[in-house]
Amino acid sequence: MEAYYGAIEGGGTKFVCAVGNGPNNIRAEARFATTTPEEVMAQITDFFHQQEKKLGALAAIGFASFGPLDPDPASPMYGHILPTPKPGWTNSNVVGMLRKEFDIPIVFDTDVNGAALGEWRWGKAQGLQTFMYLTVGTGIGGGAYVEGKLLHGLVHPEMGHILIKHDMEKDPFEGVCPFHGDCFEGLASGVAIEKRWGMRGALLTPDHAAWDLEVEYIAQALTTYTMTLSPQRIIIGGGVGTLAHLLPRVQQRTRELINGYIQSPAILENIESYIVNPGLGNRSGVLGAIALAEQSVQGS
Ligand code: ZN
Repeated sequence: MEAYYGAIEGGGTKFVCAVGNGPNNIRAEARFATTTPEEVMAQITDFFHQQEKKLGALAAIGFASFGPLDPDPASPMYGHILPTPKPGWTNSNVVGMLRKEFDIPIVFDTDVNGAALGEWRWGKAQGLQTFMYLTVGTGIGGGAYVEGKLLHGLVHPEMGHILIKHDMEKDPFEGVCPFHGDCFEGLASGVAIEKRWGMRGALLTPDHAAWDLEVEYIAQALTTYTMTLSPQRIIIGGGVGTLAHLLPRVQQRTRELINGYIQSPAILENIESYIVNPGLGNRSGVLGAIALAEQSVQGS
């Protein structure tokens, strides 16, 4: 009998849920607005139960969520959303709510780690041992797969909050991060672009000065990640990260900033296949949740 998995991609504005076992076999999908944890988790539970009536019991559930969150199964706060400005979600035990209804493996990780795993399983990171997935959208976050495993470390990486060089003459904008002001996310997220220029990034033409700053900040961040993680590839998703006019400029500027220090053909000669957009488009997250579930059953 074919195994089906439940997938949850938890985002700041909506939750995307699916039942299936791969990109070509999604049997059902649903979206729910990110209201309260109790309401959203009840809607998801109902959706999965309905699908189980048609397809039989789910084999496992993968849950890739906005953070911060606790992904350590040995921790007392495992399965909880950690303190967040999002009203009602701080310390909510979202995995516990699912556990009451489903006695199957439930894997909980960050949205970006989920997306990274989705790209490893079916997208642009197939066969790689060490790579990262960065989303540049409303917010900025990164997930990493290191030596064959998703990276968690102390809690989980927060790649959007790295500090970068900020030239106050070129860009006097103070940044929007409530914790750091002008960290990477504070300067380069969709929220920062909109606040700095008074309009959404989607409305700014490709020759707008906004993109000179954006390319510089993203390239600085990618340089830092390249120096620290030594990824074999960097995948950039998100509404800003997948703008067609941005990618070639980011590739070129990152290579300039690395400045020949890393003597790898991947960077010196093939930067266009080193920094890439996702192979799964905007489906990396929800398919990644399926991949998380699949791994828990296969124990790989
Ligand atoms: Zn920050």
